[in-house]
Amino acid sequence: MDGTISMLAPIAKRLAGKVALITGGASGIGESTARLFAEHSAKVIIADIQDELGFSICQDKSTHGAISYVHCDVTSESDVQNAINTVLSKHGKLDIMFSNAGCLAQADANILAFDPEEYKKVFDVNVWGSMLVAKHAAKVMIPEKKGTIIFTASSVTQSQGMGSHTYTVSKHALGIRVNCISPFVVATPMCLKWLGMDKKERCEEIVSTAANLKGVVLEATDVAEAALFLGSEESKYVSGFNLVVDGGFSVTNIALP
Ligand code: NAD
Repeated sequence: MDGTISMLAPIAKRLAGKVALITGGASGIGESTARLFAEHSAKVIIADIQDELGFSICQDKSTHGAISYVHCDVTSESDVQNAINTVLSKHGKLDIMFSNAGCLAQADANILAFDPEEYKKVFDVNVWGSMLVAKHAAKVMIPEKKGTIIFTASSVTQSQGMGSHTYTVSKHALGIRVNCISPFVVATPMCLKWLGMDKKERCEEIVSTAANLKGVVLEATDVAEAALFLGSEESKYVSGFNLVVDGGFSVTNIALP
C-alpha cells in the first residue's frame, strides 16, 4: 500500500434520490441498466411490451423493490404519456429518461427480401418511438430545468440518424441534458436472434474473426455502465454527446460480415 487513494474508486450510490424511466427495460441492455440503476439507489420504472418479463424483474428479490413495471408500446403516444404519468404519480418526478426500446429487421440486407411492413415497424419503434418518449419526457423536464434523456442508438449510425436528432433536441431543451449511447454488438436476445445464434461465445467467435477484434462483443452491463455515467451527476456538464461503446471498432473501418 502506498497510501494513495484512487480517484476512480467506485462511488457506492451514484443515483440516490433519482427517478428513472427505462423503455425496453424488460430485456438486454434495458434490464441490465434497470438493475444497475437500482443498485445505485435510483427508483426505476421499466416500460416494455413484454409484461411477463417486466413483472418478473420487479418481483426479483435482488432488486429490493426499487423497480416497477408499466406496459408501454413506445409507438403509441397514449402508452408513452401513460408511462410518464405513472412515474409522476408514483415518484413525483422524472430525472432520467432512458429511451432504449428497439428492434431489428431480420432480413433487411437483401433488397429482394425487403419487407415494407417490417421496415415500417423498425422505423416506428426505433425512430418515432424514441421521439415520442423524448417529447413527453422533455415536457416534464423543461419546466423543471433539469433531467437527462439518454437514447440507445448504435455504433453503426455514429453521427447520423439519432446522433443528429440528439443534437437538435439538445439545442431546444433548456437546462436539460440529452445524450446518446452507440453500442457495438451486444449479446442480448435481439442481437443473438438476428445473428441466428444462441450463445455469446459463438457470436464472439464470428465477430472477432471477421473484424479481427477479439473481445469486442459487449455484455449488456457494459452499456448499462455508460448509461449510469450519463444518468449520474458525474456527467452534469455532458450534453449533445454520442458515447460510442464499441471497443474501438468504429475507428478501424472494418466491415462486419
Ligand atoms: P433486447 O431485445 O434484449 O431488448 C429490447 C427491448 O425492447 C425488449 O425488451 C423489447 O420487448 C423492447 N421493445 C421492442 N419494441 C418495443 C416497443 N414497441 N415498445 C416498448 N418496448 C419495446 O435487445 P437489446 O440489445 O437490449 O436492445 C436495446 C437497445 O440497444 C435497442 O435500441 C437496440 O437497437 C440497441 N442496440 C443493441 C445492440 C446489440 O448488439 N444488441 C447494439 C447497438 C444498439
